[in-house]
Amino acid sequence: MSRRVPYVLGLGCWIAFWSLSLAPACPAWSAEGGLTLSGKPQQGGILFGKVPAGSRVLFEGQPVRVANTGQFVIGFGRSEPARTELTVHYPSGASERRTLRIEQRKYDVQRIDGLPDRQVTPSAEDLPRIRKEAALIRESRRRDDPRTDFLGHFIWPVEGRVSGVYGSQRVLNGKPKRPHYGVDVAAGTGTPVRAPATGTVSLVHADMYFTGGTVMLDHGHGVSSIFIHLSEIHVAPEQRVERGEIIAEVGATGRATGPHLHWGMNWFERRLDPQLTVQPMGAAVH
Ligand SMILES: [Zn+2]
Repeated sequence: MSRRVPYVLGLGCWIAFWSLSLAPACPAWSAEGGLTLSGKPQQGGILFGKVPAGSRVLFEGQPVRVANTGQFVIGFGRSEPARTELTVHYPSGASERRTLRIEQRKYDVQRIDGLPDRQVTPSAEDLPRIRKEAALIRESRRRDDPRTDFLGHFIWPVEGRVSGVYGSQRVLNGKPKRPHYGVDVAAGTGTPVRAPATGTVSLVHADMYFTGGTVMLDHGHGVSSIFIHLSEIHVAPEQRVERGEIIAEVGATGRATGPHLHWGMNWFERRLDPQLTVQPMGAAVH
């Protein structure tokens, strides 16, 4: 028997939660004990939590950073299982275990043809470069900074037609490849790319093999953003950027068939769906 209630939500928030997926903007729902969670537990989604200061939180048995305020965040991958475990050890010595029921999603198949063969099946001589660049991105994803920039709302870094969604199974030149971990927004070369949330620049690379001009932002507690195929980059490593600040320009560098922004988000190694963190394009955000 499901134990999804009791959630305490204001009526407006309840409607937003179910109809518009605006849960991240809503106040926390509460349940028994000292643990409150907000957000929708779904594959690619992000969940915000609060516990009494001094509590320890474990997700799937692994410790999760908890801010001095008691706030923490967890994220769910593309293939996250239907049930996950969250455990809280309170300063009082009491513990609470919560089973999270993760909504399972269906993903599209996306076929892209006409890519240069070298981009689909790299030659042996390209592999050392590809491995080195992948290691830089992985290292950036692993940062666990105590800042809580992720608590501020997120905005679209570029607005335009969404030309690729999170999770799609990619078939490139007829060959099945790894899924698409991000959202693509079609926009012309030179269109400004804005920081979707406040953060610290954790990676700048002018020309990676697959991703071309690449920038990563660290929003704290393992939450990071990545922007790829950029034509120009306007930030430097470890620079602090505010939400809305121009960080780069759209391009078609790396493995891209035309100019667009690919925006990915991560919670450490788990790939998140950026579209779940933002309101629909054009919506007023205060
Ligand atoms: Zn993409």
